[in-house]
Amino acid sequence: MDSILSVERELYALSEKFNRFDSTNGQQLVHTLETLRSTQRELDQVRKSGAALTPAQTFSLMKTVQGLSEVVSTFGTVHRDLHSSVSKVGKAIDRNFVTDYDSTSREDIFKAADQQKRLNEVILQHFYRHGQLEISDTLAQEAKLEDAHVIKDRFQELNAVVEALAEKRLGPALEWASKNSSDMHRAPEASSRAVTRLQSSSLEMKLHKLRFIDLLVEGKCLEAVGYARHYFPQFVKSHEKEVQALMGALMFASSGKTLEDSPYAHLLDTMLWQDIVEHFVKDACALMGLSIESPLSVVINAGCIALPALLNIKQVMQQRQVAGVWNPNAKDELPIEIDLGPECRFHSIFACPILRQQTTEQNPPLKLTCGHCISKDALTKLTSGHKLKCPYCPVEQNPQDARQITF
Ligand SMILES: [Zn+2]
Repeated sequence: MDSILSVERELYALSEKFNRFDSTNGQQLVHTLETLRSTQRELDQVRKSGAALTPAQTFSLMKTVQGLSEVVSTFGTVHRDLHSSVSKVGKAIDRNFVTDYDSTSREDIFKAADQQKRLNEVILQHFYRHGQLEISDTLAQEAKLEDAHVIKDRFQELNAVVEALAEKRLGPALEWASKNSSDMHRAPEASSRAVTRLQSSSLEMKLHKLRFIDLLVEGKCLEAVGYARHYFPQFVKSHEKEVQALMGALMFASSGKTLEDSPYAHLLDTMLWQDIVEHFVKDACALMGLSIESPLSVVINAGCIALPALLNIKQVMQQRQVAGVWNPNAKDELPIEIDLGPECRFHSIFACPILRQQTTEQNPPLKLTCGHCISKDALTKLTSGHKLKCPYCPVEQNPQDARQITF
């Protein structure tokens, strides 16, 4: 932010200078041109008449030429001044923004064909998610992604529902929910089945709730009663409190009072509509086996957070001449830990307290018999013969007894 501000300052100074130039020198320029033209006209007349220049004419001509060269020299100075201001802006940009990101990137990552394909698919999915169909189609064509139409169809449906919800039309979303509720119940993993069923029923419940509230607001209480009879019984078990609140709101509305003044005013909150869109996208993505956020935006956001720290460490390493220690092409690991914030934490990681490095598949975390956890590398280093002394609670044990743990 500071960098942007300091460049903006230079730009402001430059535009001030240009404005000043316009107001003072512009007038002078017009005047000079005027004089030149009138001199030219005079000279033309003299040439046509064929007579020689009178001494007075010669004198005025010399005067004009002299004035002209003065103007040219002042303009030269002004021009030099302006030019230096323009180059100052360029220098400010160079000074405040890093232009060389090479050191923080790895070019080999997208060299192989299947890696490139995966990258294209991620970009494609991002565009489809955001309903940018034209650009996605072109990308699918140019990148020769054959199965692009499969995700396209699903996202097209999703976008249509989201658009309808934005206009407060519940029809398409309700249709989607009832059509897909059986799919949700048939979730592939047995363990997640219960969760998805709960989610899907809660989406349906939320949709019915909004429709019900709409009916109340429109004053169609009888219709609302019918609606509740038809749709709510299936949700009474899982959403008892919500159904109770809705019935309470119905009592208020049918007694002729407006909901705004009732204890149920919160049911009219416009946030409920925003909430339903998020909920729907979440459910729809889960059904398609996709993450809620677009993977492309997750990666780019994470990169934007990490980049300043990476550039910083590169600079420090160059200054201390230890740049060779971190060769990003050789390691899958960063030289420092960068906190990306809670929204970028997807799963737990374990850093070995002894070696201070993140555990990997080759170097997994191990639980010792005393309950302390260290990495496999640390265990190997600490083991002497068939004995290992825990570095924390010096319990002596057999390193073979350590168990690998998974987070
Ligand atoms: Zn221990």
